[in-house]
Amino acid sequence: MISGDSGTTTVPAGRRAVVTGAAGFIGSHLCEALLAAGWLVTGVDHLCGHPAEVTARNLRTLRPDPRFVLVRADLATAELEPLLYGTDTVFHLAARPGVRASWGEDFAEYADSNVLGTHRLLDAAGRAGVRRAVISSSSSVYGGAEDGATAESRLPAPLSPYGATKLMTEQLALAHARRPGAVTSVVALRYFTVYGPRQREEMAITRMIESALTGRPFTVYGDGLQRRDFTFVSDAVRANLLAAEVDARAVAVNTGSGKTVTVLELIRLIGEVVGRPVRYEHGPAADGDARSTHADLTAAAELLAYAPTVDLRTGLRHQAEWMRSAAGPRALQPVGG
Ligand code: NAD
Repeated sequence: MISGDSGTTTVPAGRRAVVTGAAGFIGSHLCEALLAAGWLVTGVDHLCGHPAEVTARNLRTLRPDPRFVLVRADLATAELEPLLYGTDTVFHLAARPGVRASWGEDFAEYADSNVLGTHRLLDAAGRAGVRRAVISSSSSVYGGAEDGATAESRLPAPLSPYGATKLMTEQLALAHARRPGAVTSVVALRYFTVYGPRQREEMAITRMIESALTGRPFTVYGDGLQRRDFTFVSDAVRANLLAAEVDARAVAVNTGSGKTVTVLELIRLIGEVVGRPVRYEHGPAADGDARSTHADLTAAAELLAYAPTVDLRTGLRHQAEWMRSAAGPRALQPVGG
């Protein structure tokens, strides 16, 4: 079922983009950046990924813009081709994210959204004549990497069902682009953990900042010495804009910061940024968590001219300020001293 819930009576001029997952964390930021760059944007989302108040918050600045149209549609079932006619670039962010839930009964949602949805989207994009698809992939396709930065040439070895579906997402899209005579070329971006304002509420940085603000303890999975490469959301968005323009047929590229910290170092840094320590306790290690993620950005620099611009301390400050503000997730008032 497709239903447009916002529209315009006049059609403004500009390049047309379709953004799947527009109501999500990264997708909503990308839509804002595309509008700022002069694109016309159709957001496609089934609006089931978040509670209604989170969806409304993510879409707050987009909805009033006459150059933005939101279409409620499930990529796994909706008729997609009519949405894509006249589209220059489709930015595909819609997915069921999250490592832990992917082990259980919810896997059908991962298969539907991340695998079937991607195949249906690329099939429809080809028939509609879309020039470029920019695909949101993930560092989770690599599995663990303990020997320095990971280049795209490393053999993928996902550690979770989620990671396996993200590998399918990008490989399906790349296969469509390699098909003889294919009109839609593909750049897949392998994001390393993205953070910033509107980050999903179950993600670690959100929960750590929440702990610092409220005094409620944060549970560290395992010893806390696992290393992560964190990408500020504006850098991930910029990689998407660059990926729309480069000369490429079918390629996957890392999108990260190129730097790592341990979870315990991150906890200390968030305590400094917020001005209150993060209380934490240790829990069992989680199935599917990589010991280390670390992006080699050589290919991103060469192909996209991408380089991260926001360092971790600055990015954490932006996220913490947003979480404290009225626009933030909920009233986060510090308790105790
Ligand atoms: P998000 O959950 O905030 O956004 C995803 C959006 O997609 C949601 O609004 C949801 O309603 C929508 N959606 C899901 N399935 C759909 C379907 N079948 N049809 C239509 N809409 C659907 O997630 P996010 O953190 O913004 O992630 C965006 C993309 O980036 C995802 O593809 C994710 O796998 C990838 N990614 C994210 C991170 C990260 O750290 N956030 C890291 C690596 C990769």
